[in-house]
Amino acid sequence: MKMKKILALAAAAAMMLSLAACGSNGGSAADNGQSSAEGETSGDDVLIMATNAAFPPYEYVENNEVVGIDAEIAQAIAEDLGMTLQIDDMDFDSIIPAITTGKADIGVAGMTVTEERLQNVSFSDSYATGVQVIIVPEDSDITSPDDLANDKMIGVQQGTTGHIYCADTPENGGFGEEHVAAFPNGASAVEALKTGKVDCVVIDNEPAKAFVEQNEGLKILDTEFVVEDYAIAIAKDNEELLEKVNASLAKLKEDGTLQQIIDKYITAE
Ligand code: GLN
Repeated sequence: MKMKKILALAAAAAMMLSLAACGSNGGSAADNGQSSAEGETSGDDVLIMATNAAFPPYEYVENNEVVGIDAEIAQAIAEDLGMTLQIDDMDFDSIIPAITTGKADIGVAGMTVTEERLQNVSFSDSYATGVQVIIVPEDSDITSPDDLANDKMIGVQQGTTGHIYCADTPENGGFGEEHVAAFPNGASAVEALKTGKVDCVVIDNEPAKAFVEQNEGLKILDTEFVVEDYAIAIAKDNEELLEKVNASLAKLKEDGTLQQIIDKYITAE
C-alpha cells in the first residue's frame, strides 16, 4: 500500500468536515466579497470570480473565506489588472451560466477545457493540469477503470468532467447513466462512498488526495483515468478580458508567481 503523504493539506483537510456539513447548499458558505474590506469600488473595477469552493486545494472555505490555488491566482490577476477581486461561491453547475449571463466575469474552479463548454464560453490559456482518478475503499475489488464496468455504482460531482465521462455510453468509454450517482460536490460523493452508497468516486486528483487524507480507509487507484487542462472561463463576447487575463497569466508564469502559488498548496510527490 502506498504511504500516505504528509499532511501538507492539513488545513484543507481540516475543513472538509465543515464542507460536508454544508452539503448541497452550494453557496451559503461564502458569497463573500473578500475584498470589501478595502472599500467598495465601482462595478468596473471589480472582477467577479465564480467558483465552487468545495474543491481543495484549488478552492475551499477557511475562516469563512474562499482560499486555495484558484483564489490566489485570481487575486494575482486582479491585482495585475488593477481590479478588486470578488469571489462568488456557487454550485459547479452554475458557474458557466453565471459567466454567460454576465453575473460573473471569470469562472475559476479547476475547470477543465472541453469542446462542449467551449460552445458556451471562452477559456484562457491553461494554468494547471488535472487528472481524473478513482477513489475506492482500501479493501475494494476495483483495481482499474475496467472494473467499473462490472455493475458498480460510481459517485461523481454533478456537471463535472468525471460525471460526463462516466455517464457516457460504454461505446464512448463510459459506464452508462444508471451506474452513476451525481452529488453536489466532492465531499458529499466521498461521504456516500464511506457509507457504501457508491463503490467508488471519480474526481480530480488533487481534491482526491485531500479527501483521502481526511478519510480513513480510502485509497486512490494508481491508474490515471483521464488527463485534462484547467483554464479560466470567460464570456465569449468579452474578448478584451480574455486577452487581459491571458497577458496576466503569462506574467505570473514568467515571474514564478504561479508556481509559488501551486507549491504553497501542493507538495511535490
Ligand atoms: N475538472 C473538473 C471539471 O472541470 C472538476 C472541477 C470541479 O469540480 N471544480 O469538470
